[in-house]
Amino acid sequence: MSEIKCRVCGATPEQSESIYSEQDGGSQHRHLYQCVDFLQDSVISLRAELERVKAENEWHKYPDEKPELYEYVIVWKPIWTRPHVAKLADYSEWKSIIGVDFDDITHWKPLPAAPEEGE
Ligand SMILES: [Zn+2]
Repeated sequence: MSEIKCRVCGATPEQSESIYSEQDGGSQHRHLYQCVDFLQDSVISLRAELERVKAENEWHKYPDEKPELYEYVIVWKPIWTRPHVAKLADYSEWKSIIGVDFDDITHWKPLPAAPEEGE
């Protein structure tokens, strides 16, 4: 027999004393409260995660905001068709990985993190 689990909160019948097996309205009701708590916690943590991911992936306007010197970031200027990777080597001088100078950079954003082991 396959295990019955709540599709919302993942609770098994043992964990919630009800779910699908019981027809008793009272225990179904208690289970729904458990699901609502789970959904509220999920929404709160997902919103926080979304804000964090959005902040990490935002483009920063250059020169209003500057990255750390000598730290490679993704850079952009409107005449390009795709972004490049470069570092701010001086307060106004962008250098690509192979040492090419980039002028007129308008935006930058941090490089994504490397994948974790096993990802
Ligand atoms: Zn549930």
